[in-house]
Amino acid sequence: MSDGTEPLPFRFQVTGRLSALLKEYYVALDSKHPRDVTAPASGADEVAQLVTGLRRLASNLWWTWNEDSQVIFHELSPRGWQTLYHNAVAVLQEVSEYELKVRLQDPSLARRARELLKSFDAYLSETDTWGRKNAPSLLKNPVAYFSAEIGFHETLPIAAGGLGILAGDHARSASDLGIGFVGMSIFYREGYFQQAINQDGWQTDYYVRLNPESLPMEPVLDTNGEPVVCSLDIDLSKVYFHAWRVNVGRIPVYLLDTNRPENQQLYRDLSLRVYGGDNTTRIMQELLLGMGGVRLLRRLGIQPSVFHKNEGHVAFLALELIREKLAAGMSFDDALQATRRQCIFTTHTPVQAGHDRFSPDLVKYALHELLPHVAPSFSELMALGRVNPQDEREPFCMTVLALKASRAANGVSELHGHVSRLMWQCLYPRKAPADVPIGHITNGIHLLGWMKGPVRSFWKRKLGPRWDEGINSAAYWERMLDPEFVSDEELWALRYRLRRALIEFARRRLERQGQRVLQHDFIAFDRILNPDALTIGFARRFAAYKRAPLIFRDIDRISTMVLDDARPIQFVFAGKAHPMDDAGKTPLQKILQLGKSTALRGRLVFLENYDVHVARQMVSGCDLWLNNPRRPMEASGTSGMKISCNGGLNLSVLDGWWCEGYDGTNGFAIASDENPPSTEEQDRIDSENLYRVLSEEVIPCFYDRDASGIPRRWISMMRRAMATLVPQFNTWRMVQEYTQKYYLP
Ligand SMILES: *Cc1c(COP(=O)(O)O)cnc(C)c1O
Repeated sequence: MSDGTEPLPFRFQVTGRLSALLKEYYVALDSKHPRDVTAPASGADEVAQLVTGLRRLASNLWWTWNEDSQVIFHELSPRGWQTLYHNAVAVLQEVSEYELKVRLQDPSLARRARELLKSFDAYLSETDTWGRKNAPSLLKNPVAYFSAEIGFHETLPIAAGGLGILAGDHARSASDLGIGFVGMSIFYREGYFQQAINQDGWQTDYYVRLNPESLPMEPVLDTNGEPVVCSLDIDLSKVYFHAWRVNVGRIPVYLLDTNRPENQQLYRDLSLRVYGGDNTTRIMQELLLGMGGVRLLRRLGIQPSVFHKNEGHVAFLALELIREKLAAGMSFDDALQATRRQCIFTTHTPVQAGHDRFSPDLVKYALHELLPHVAPSFSELMALGRVNPQDEREPFCMTVLALKASRAANGVSELHGHVSRLMWQCLYPRKAPADVPIGHITNGIHLLGWMKGPVRSFWKRKLGPRWDEGINSAAYWERMLDPEFVSDEELWALRYRLRRALIEFARRRLERQGQRVLQHDFIAFDRILNPDALTIGFARRFAAYKRAPLIFRDIDRISTMVLDDARPIQFVFAGKAHPMDDAGKTPLQKILQLGKSTALRGRLVFLENYDVHVARQMVSGCDLWLNNPRRPMEASGTSGMKISCNGGLNLSVLDGWWCEGYDGTNGFAIASDENPPSTEEQDRIDSENLYRVLSEEVIPCFYDRDASGIPRRWISMMRRAMATLVPQFNTWRMVQEYTQKYYLP
């Protein structure tokens, strides 16, 4: 602690007049609260503690689902919060230690910081958790959850889409529930690509290098304070890796990193980009994560009771478990059986082409050194990834390995479970499709992570400071049905606030986009989008089966609806196509071009660089969430779930989760042909149905207003959606189901 004689801790950025002012201020504060060495002033002590506490808070992702923390970080540096893209660690680096101390002399800020840190500590030390009561054995031997991508927040963009966001939400709920859980993924130092649209409306991509020093993660160190380094033989080389630890509330997520001086550049770059490079990079990344991840856990003394493979990418973890057992003298068959008992597997892909497959040559090459340690022969290794082990030309399929080396498997919605059983019946030729051992657990979302400011303030007003208790329960959301608890007028005002916030956000974003792209094209950005119009959102990966442009199939018909002055509709689109997927970039370009056409200009907008932040704005601000995949190709879909807790409604094909969620009163369904003669015909039928629902049900429901301008029917549907969907489609329920059904033997 300072005794008043050491120099004041100025940082070099703060110079000149500002520095002098701060110094004066601090000296003045000091004289107001004199400190002396014999009786240390508790004020300064406490401030120092608050500073340490805020740094500790910034380095735990708990703040990403606690908005009070975000408010404080924002307040500390409003511009930094914006330019550093809501990165709390970087904000605290930008604000000097000295400034922090001065600012925390403000009693109101200090009080709020103190309360915040108290609830943070209470969260961390909570012992009365669901997990302790219902799954105590996992506290000692945790679940090890492996996922090739994991998305928590926009500052750590290491997810490509829904799979990764789901993994992040899974981890956050595992923390909330207090179950024994560790996550495992890769620190991709260039993350997933950033999207910029060029003048032709074509997607271009670029990468930004992430700096671990200013991210909420810390290096994994041994007792001597040295990085823990492990290695793995890949092809003919020894590849070294270290790891980062991300604190997600109460649980750790480890991210592997091959960027080490001992490695050749090729291997350093294994952890460069999410799904980067070709199939060779891919198989090596998957070896690193699967086998390397198990090695790291062993090194850290963590003995998981169950390994959860989130999608086939991570299935190589089974090879490491087999290797350990072979090394201990077990036979290959026994090792495989014992490994099966340790693993469970979640499949996410109802499309054959979506499953990772590697040619026998590539497997032979990548596992060159490892092979003798993981299987008695090459053909026995290949058999683990083949439907027909006798077929020498059959590639090695990661999903097949995952299924063969797990004691249980599941799809991510009821319908997807069914589709997966049909798809993989070939592996169980003696079983009827219904008996194929693949069950289902329907996906969810982490509610507090997806509820935005105005919605939180709404609940806080209703329920007080402990408003979020029981937020995942049915009783909590049933209140939404009660007009005494909340009036139509209040709900409608809330929707206006959220829609307005989205429109402001979109205008700011489009202005920035426009300045770059539309150099000669003047647009009055403040007139884009209409705060009174029915706002339809569509944001997801631009994969062909998701059919982003379906609603524009009959452009005259949709233009008429858009241009109806009495009952206008408008669209906000976003989403990335994979950098190598031109079939995904073409529909994206089509949307952008339509947005420039006279009819749709200013009423169909595309927001660049879809990520968690853009998603948060869109799922809260849109009235209606459009989802029209080619059934049954959407395994679950989760973006539509994020809409419900914010009072939005879904308009969706009865695919994935919506098949379970829709009950006729809580949103809208687009009928879809089960067995279309062709995809062209399927598109035609589905778009006809879409237009019909839109013009006959959705638009009238939204614009049918009473004398005071309130759409009573729409609001009653909002109430139904919140009461029936939110308590069901969240990760609190989902992780409990995983725990009871699969984690506990
Ligand atoms: C929720 C979310 C997704 C998944 O959306 P789907 O509807 O499942 O396609 C993808 N990306 C981001 C950034 C998300 O927040």
